[in-house]
Order: sequence, then C-alpha cells, then structure tokens
Amino acid sequence: MTETIRLAHHVGGRAVDGAMTFSQASPSNPDDLVVEGPEADAALVAEAVANARSAVDALDQVGIEARADALSRIGRTLLANADRLALLATRETGKTINDAKGEVVRAARTFDFFAGEALRNIGERFASTRPGAMVEVDYAPVGVVAAITPWNFPFAIPAWKIAPAIAFGNAVVWKPSEIASASADAFRAILAEAGLPVGTVEMLLGAGGAGAALTGADGVDAISFTGSVATGNRVVRAAAEKGVRAQMEMGGVNGLIILDDANLDVAVDCAINGAYFNAGQRCTATSRIIITDGIADRFIAAFIERAKALKIGDPRDPQTQIGSLAAFKQKTLIASQVEQAEAAGFKPLIGGSADARPHAFFAPTLFDNAAPASLLGQEEIFGPVAGIFRVRDFEEAMTVLNNNRYGLSSSICTRSLVHAEQFKRRARTGMRMVNMPTAGADYHAPFGGVGISSFGPREQGRAARTFYTTLHTTYQLAV
Ligand code: ADP
Repeated sequence: MTETIRLAHHVGGRAVDGAMTFSQASPSNPDDLVVEGPEADAALVAEAVANARSAVDALDQVGIEARADALSRIGRTLLANADRLALLATRETGKTINDAKGEVVRAARTFDFFAGEALRNIGERFASTRPGAMVEVDYAPVGVVAAITPWNFPFAIPAWKIAPAIAFGNAVVWKPSEIASASADAFRAILAEAGLPVGTVEMLLGAGGAGAALTGADGVDAISFTGSVATGNRVVRAAAEKGVRAQMEMGGVNGLIILDDANLDVAVDCAINGAYFNAGQRCTATSRIIITDGIADRFIAAFIERAKALKIGDPRDPQTQIGSLAAFKQKTLIASQVEQAEAAGFKPLIGGSADARPHAFFAPTLFDNAAPASLLGQEEIFGPVAGIFRVRDFEEAMTVLNNNRYGLSSSICTRSLVHAEQFKRRARTGMRMVNMPTAGADYHAPFGGVGISSFGPREQGRAARTFYTTLHTTYQLAV
C-alpha cells in the first residue's frame, strides 16, 4: 500500500491548505510513498513576510538567553527524533538511512553551536582618532531572511541557515525543495515546538514559482539560497533588483589530485567517498580524479574493485552504502549527461548508460581518459559519475584542477609536504582538503567556494555572523 502524505504551508502558526501542485514519489520505491504539496502564491508570501517581520521585533524582546535556550531545545529534539526523521528522508529522497541519521545529528549539532553563538554576538569599543570620541561596532539582526533550500540535505542545509538566523535575532521565511518537503515539514514541526515567537520560521511550499515569489517579495531583507547555478543566478538578479543582501551556495566540479607518492588506500577511500557516497549528490562531490601516470593504473584497478563491492540498494537497509538518486527527473538528467559523454567518445570503465537500474537508481560510473575541455571536465553531473584525468606531473595536475569556472572544493592525496603546500596556495577553490575527500565539512568551520560556485558571505561556523547581521559603526563624543 502506497502511503500518501499531503502537506500544507505553515504561516502565522497555522496550516494553510491549497490545491496539490507538486508530487514526489519515493525514488527508491515509488510504491512506498508519495508526497504532495501546494504552491505558495504572492499573497501568501506577503502574509508570511509580514508575520516574520513581527517575529523579528518579538525575538528582540525575547532576548539572547531565551533564543539560545530555544536553539538548544531544537538540537535535543532533533536528536530524540533522529530515527523517525531519517527514515522519512530516506523514503522521500533515496539517501541511505545511515547518511540521513548522520545528517540529523549534524543538524542538531549546528543548533547547539549557534545556541552558543547567540550569546557571543559581541561588538567592539575603541578610541576614535578624534580626541575624546569613542567608536563602537555592533552587530544587529538583518530582519526577515528568505531561505531557499535544496533536496540533497533536507535537514543539514536548512539547519545551517535557520540556526544562525535565529541566533542573531532574525526571522525566516523558508521555502524547501519540492523534492524534500515532507522531511522539511517534519523539521518545521520541531522548530514550531521550541517556544519561539509565532512567525520566527514561516514555511511556504512549492516549486520554483514559490521560490521566485519569495525572492521578489517586498519586505525580505536577505536571501540565503543553496541549489543549482542556473537558479542561483536568477535569485541573485532578483535580490539585486530589490537591493537585498544575498548568499548563494551552488555547485562544483570538484577535483581530487592523486600524485605518484600518495598512500594508495587513502586515495581510493577519498575517491570512492567523494565520487559515490550520497550517490554523488553533494555539491562537494568529486567528479574529476586528476592522477599522475605512475600511480594511475594501480589506482584504477583498486578503485574499480572497491566500487564493485559497494552495497547499492534499499536505502532503508543499514547495510546499504549507496541509495538511489533523489528523484526520477534527476535520473533522466544524469543519464542524458552520461550519454552525451559516451557519444563524445569517452568510455565508462564501470557503470554508464548500458548499466540500467530500476527506479531512480543509477550505477556508479567511471570514465577513463577524460578530457579537461569536455563535458566531464567542465559541467557538473550531480550523480555518481567521475572521470579520470591522466596527467604527467603536479604542475599539469594544478593546471587541470584550476581549469574550471566552478571553485567549491578540491583535494590532493600526496605525502609530499611541498606539493601539499603548493596545492593549498594555488588551488582556486574555497575548500581545500589534503589526504581527505573533497566532500565532508565540519559544522563549526566556514563553508563556501569561489568562481561561479558561491556568491556573498560564507555560511557556517563563526563566519555565519557576517551574513546574518548588519554591522553598525557608531561614533560618540561625550560633551
Ligand atoms: P535542483 O535543480 O537541484 O532542484 P534548484 O536550484 O532548481 O536545484 O532548486 C533549489 C531550490 O530553489 C529549490 O527549493 C527550488 O524549488 C528553488 N527554485 C527553483 N527555481 C527558483 C526560482 N526561479 N526562484 C527561486 N527559487 C527557485
């Protein structure tokens, strides 16, 4: 029996129904679950933004200690509900139960971290160059923050936007992805029980139309977006037209350099994790394996052996390492990119379009002899697909690595201090990893890229304050 979940928006502390406009069938087993939801229109967006505006004032009244307490409570409730939340995300988006649980724990820790940050929003006071005068720097809330989130981390990404927003006194109008709305709604219910003022987190559902209505709305003071480059560029333009602060985290075509002197086991671990875990659906996933000639063949043999041993299947089974893609439309997209690469003459060593799988499952795929200028070298493929780029030496590896408009994450596997140091200085990416996978960032450290991967101030860690506050400089002369 298929379970059907029908969702509603949540505005002003109550459910607001609407005609069902989108639906998401479980991508690993469409007979298991169908999620349906309505699309927010401009009138509902206006109502949500007005409620959020009132909540900004209420959050100021509440004060930092009560906000910190509420954030801690949310963290604890997320942990207490980790199994239930994880299972829902697994059924809705095809991610493995272990990955989903790990993500809920990460979301909980993010709330804990920002509970502390709420109490550490400390300014400065120092002497002016003008005798007798003082300078003060303080960090006030921005106001109403629109959060537009994707489906690949339905708890972690909303958490790292919503937690700092509340810590620094902002209210949020959240538009989750239509592919992960049931997970988002379960998260919202936990946020709603934390004792924060009504309107602190308003939730509007829908696809791109609802997102566009929110980014174009009057009264929004800042927009934090994570998603594709194409959509992110639209959101940046909408923000610029309104004169609104924007923060965009978008994709990556992340490169992993493996040099002859690498520890082979570490390199294979990094590549398998980076390329295939989460079915390659992380913006920091490895899609380019840039490898020097002396180790390439040994690496490929070991990589293929590991890839073939991966347990791919029912994401609800704790033994499963790789689930399905998040949606059937994603499978169509990834398959067409892989077919294009094959048509251009690149040959998959494993996987590829010939390896058909049921539902939204896609075979881990590895292309050999990929060319830097080809689709494999330049375009993001948001699935378990990687290319081997063979290079002569470190210099050529750096040239291939930096030959891309994206710039989110990169990694090097080497035991050479000189090459590791050179890599750190020259890799044109916001995130750099040494003997670690391109994917997998801590919740207490800043996260973000350069090039077309990111726009605006960094997310996460203490760096989050820059986006979620307005800095004031006040001069005062006591006379
Ligand atoms: P994907 O293609 O991976 O789903 P998107 O970038 O399209 O990634 O989606 C990320 C988020 O942006 C989702 O919540 C989506 O509904 C939303 N979105 C899509 N189109 C727009 C738009 N024009 N304006 C604002 N948000 C949008």
